[in-house]
Amino acid sequence: MDIEQLSERILAGERRALARAITLIESSRADHRAQAAELLERLKGVGRHAIRIGLSGTPGVGKSTFIESFGSMLTGQGLRVAVLAVDPSSARSGGSILGDKTRMDRLSRDPNAFIRPSPSQSHLGGVARRSREAVALCEAAGFDVVLIETVGVGQSETVVAEMSDLFILLLAPAGGDELQGVKRGIMEMADIILVNKADGDLKAAATRTCADYAGALRLLRKRPQDPEGFPKAMTVSALEEDGLQRAWDEMQALVGWRREAGFFDGRRADQARYWFEQELRQALLAKLETPEAKAEMARLGEAVASGEATPAVAARQLLSGLGLEDG
Ligand code: GDP
Repeated sequence: MDIEQLSERILAGERRALARAITLIESSRADHRAQAAELLERLKGVGRHAIRIGLSGTPGVGKSTFIESFGSMLTGQGLRVAVLAVDPSSARSGGSILGDKTRMDRLSRDPNAFIRPSPSQSHLGGVARRSREAVALCEAAGFDVVLIETVGVGQSETVVAEMSDLFILLLAPAGGDELQGVKRGIMEMADIILVNKADGDLKAAATRTCADYAGALRLLRKRPQDPEGFPKAMTVSALEEDGLQRAWDEMQALVGWRREAGFFDGRRADQARYWFEQELRQALLAKLETPEAKAEMARLGEAVASGEATPAVAARQLLSGLGLEDG
């Protein structure tokens, strides 16, 4: 594959080239990894910046309906929109459940949109790396907004928040007055909570749910990266395309404020550092997963179990065998 040519086509905004490049970064073949690294290196300094929006919500709250109508509204305003998914469970369920093109029929036919389902890898680390690199490719291809969708599976929300400028939590109206069991940690990550399905019979319940969350958000500790009034809760109807412009206005206001206050670039720098450390940890752990390392670990485990060696000495011996002496 000609990486120079591929990178030029990506810079020209060609969606087919972008799709090919994402296939390349998803590959675990060593030669593909090397080519992917070369490609990302070429594209890293182009200085194009999308707004990266992480979107989370349990199945059924209306994520794909929202992405379809919100994304179409943005493309209607002349913006280019990319949709990616982080779904570590898709391998298990035998196919991607997120970012599925059939779920976003209108957007998938829109020339100013690009939709890419989650790769089928069960390992969150693999999905995270691929998604992060795909975000960078979409930015280089000149997309203005990158939507990164996830369901609340395990750590996937944290992973998405760590690659987003804004984190949006989509909720459905609650039946009673309970806060739907949304974990506090997830709420603390949210910049904007959107209570969807605020239409027809559900409108009153949505308004009530929204007020409950607005109250809960006010009780959270104020974060330095937030201007007055954030994080906030709002109602929308993805189906009736109601409240979407208001939600977009708030997102832009928040991004604008963070840009001026320096939090936008600061956060991206922190994220880069976070991913570097993650990569390093994963690479180190992978060294323990080779057949030789496993055999040596089993052998030393026996020695420790029988009292022949102490745990500390055995661990040091293994590290030294891996070329990782601890000094
Ligand atoms: P996802 O699983 O989060 O992607 O949810 P979907 O977008 O597939 O929506 C789940 C169901 O909720 C579908 O039957 C949608 O038609 C419905 N739905 C989505 N958005 C709205 C909305 O704004 N109002 C109403 N009344 N129904 C909606």
